[in-house]
Amino acid sequence: MSEVAVTGAAKRYGNVAALDGVDLTFADGEFFGLLGPSGSGKTTLLRAIAGFIELDAGEIRIDGTDISRIPVHQRDIGMVFQNYALFPHMSVAENIAFGLDVRGVPAGEIAQRVGESLDLVRLSGLEQRRPRQLSGGQQQRVALARALVTRPKVLLLDEPLSALDKHLRQEMQVELRRIQRQIGITTIFVTHDQEEALTLSDRVAIFNKGRVVQAGSPRAVYEWPVNRFAAGFLGEANFLEGKVVGVLGPEAQVVMPDGSAIIVTHQGVANGSDVLVALRPEKIGIEPGGSQAPRLNRVIGRVQSAIFSGSSLTYRVSVGDRLFVVFEQNKNRAPLSEQSVVTLEWATADNILVQP
Ligand code: ADP
Repeated sequence: MSEVAVTGAAKRYGNVAALDGVDLTFADGEFFGLLGPSGSGKTTLLRAIAGFIELDAGEIRIDGTDISRIPVHQRDIGMVFQNYALFPHMSVAENIAFGLDVRGVPAGEIAQRVGESLDLVRLSGLEQRRPRQLSGGQQQRVALARALVTRPKVLLLDEPLSALDKHLRQEMQVELRRIQRQIGITTIFVTHDQEEALTLSDRVAIFNKGRVVQAGSPRAVYEWPVNRFAAGFLGEANFLEGKVVGVLGPEAQVVMPDGSAIIVTHQGVANGSDVLVALRPEKIGIEPGGSQAPRLNRVIGRVQSAIFSGSSLTYRVSVGDRLFVVFEQNKNRAPLSEQSVVTLEWATADNILVQP
């Protein structure tokens, strides 16, 4: 269907840079999640693509055509917001038909397209209901049908599921992905829910202060975060600061202030330089006892807290004056007790060199 290319997008509000030079290309048929803390510019980008706000600089192209001078209603874009914004006095069918009515589509074609849209979102049979006679999930399906009935080139979703309870939300995530795949529409999705973004998206971008910190597949961004912000925003991370004391081929030895040492694989760190390493909590193995000989990527510590959450456990382990967070699957042993001595160990590949 359509590719959306954003280049050099900038937008200021007073002295706040809502967008500060954003370059992103959303590929044809891709489901793309925009992630980032509140106020990082995600909604501003979505609104600029929709045409509700004008950029100060930069451009947005759909299939190569600059859309900055094209008014909102001619942009061929469908939108769904968190709070549905359905017309309460209209039936489901009338709500969905609205966009076709205002475009002057003939009545026969409207009836046919409304029927198709209702099928797509699996709401056939409910066309005469009013929005208030529907559940939250059903209302959101109507909003989706309404956005898609005009056959837009691009679908923009702004926190579309955040008003739903957890169970319904998960069900709608599956639905959303099914519908998106079925019609193959380029979809840009804003969410504050990391898990949702990782589950649904082909690619994600992490925003901070109006800039894209990192973009890539969910797995790439999670496994290879580029900096402290990306590593800490998406999931949890332990940060190890140290100094490179030896470089041998692709591996470098890094010594922490307390003397413990780790190995990182690197591309060109210099001997003597200060580095920052991110280590995911689930990559760390934890075993009771501390009698094993010291070695690389292994430290001895003391359990400060053990939090049981059903399928997993979260340990906080003090090592010298550092605190490691460790996630462990709840397998066949009792939780390690607080204040017990434990050995933490992990693989070299799990030490990710990141920018500060
Ligand atoms: P996000 O969607 O990531 O939460 P936004 O794009 O809504 O972030 O906002 C980015 C920044 O721009 C924030 O600091 C916000 O306060 C500011 N901002 C957004 N819209 C306006 C506006 N209409 N007037 C003034 N400031 C705005």
